[in-house]
Amino acid sequence: MTAPLNHDNRALQPALEVCGLSRSFSVGGGLLRQGKILRAVDDINLSVRRGESLGIVGESGSGKTTLSRMMLGLMKPTNGVIKIDGRNIANIDRLELARKIQPIFQDPYSSLNPRKTIGQIIRLPLEAHGIGTSKDRDEAIEQIMEQVGLPLRLQHSYPSQLSGGQRQRVAIARALVVKPEILICDEPTSALDVSVQAQILNLLTDLRAAFNLTYIFITHDLGVLDYMADRVAVMYMGRIVELGPARKILAAPDHPYAQALLSSILTPDPHLDLPDLSLAQGFPDPLNPPTGCSFHPRCAKARDICCTKPPPVTRAQDHLIECHLHPLELHP
Ligand code: SF4
Repeated sequence: MTAPLNHDNRALQPALEVCGLSRSFSVGGGLLRQGKILRAVDDINLSVRRGESLGIVGESGSGKTTLSRMMLGLMKPTNGVIKIDGRNIANIDRLELARKIQPIFQDPYSSLNPRKTIGQIIRLPLEAHGIGTSKDRDEAIEQIMEQVGLPLRLQHSYPSQLSGGQRQRVAIARALVVKPEILICDEPTSALDVSVQAQILNLLTDLRAAFNLTYIFITHDLGVLDYMADRVAVMYMGRIVELGPARKILAAPDHPYAQALLSSILTPDPHLDLPDLSLAQGFPDPLNPPTGCSFHPRCAKARDICCTKPPPVTRAQDHLIECHLHPLELHP
């Protein structure tokens, strides 16, 4: 059994750690035929500090969603470990895990039960976790509604009677009412009007400071990354190919894929998948990944070695890059 943490060593411990995490799927198999292996997440290592906001960016199919589902305990890894507060989440039961890490999804309407009132929706997690008496729950609902900027009269309304921004506030209130430490925000503003997006981002910023929350932000929106993320991880075909401080990665990424991605990501419509990255070829077939560096068929800077040998991971202070080209530049 893990010993309880005192306040000092808990503060020093990362809020979330991902060690050697992989998730594969067998595709197209049958009774007598073995399927092909799709490596959705491939040996990822990551550590997120308490109170930090980590942005994750990559094209569809890069593994962002699979990674976040594993962090939420909704999918088991094929290999590797995810730790929250130093504890392997495989050893934490589902309800306890839900009190530590909560998701905020892109479309608040589809994640809210249309037949329940706002008060009932926010109350449900408290009931599921057996938190407080009925009176305590009433107070907790009022408190969290106030904190997310929802008028108390909306307790008796239904999701269909609310605006998109109000519905996202309900989703945030429902996630926070059980006082989690970590929020996984999956494109939390992309379904909202531009005028409302800034309000929700400001709210998330205020709540992070108020509750010392740790954020994992999955987004296609460069503006959201710039505003919300302390560090940015760029994913490609299940790997993190560059990771570093947001101001460094967003201003001058080193990895050729991060350069192409971030220069093209300024799409006015975040519902669109990432536009053509001006790369030589489209996204490769993940069932037949390229040899060597998986980005080599699309990389303008590829060399012979890139076609045959997987690139090394190089770390320099708080910057990580996976590319044959950059180790010397990172270690002058
Ligand atoms: Fe391009 Fe080679 Fe670097 Fe891969 S390892 S990103 S192919 S230069």
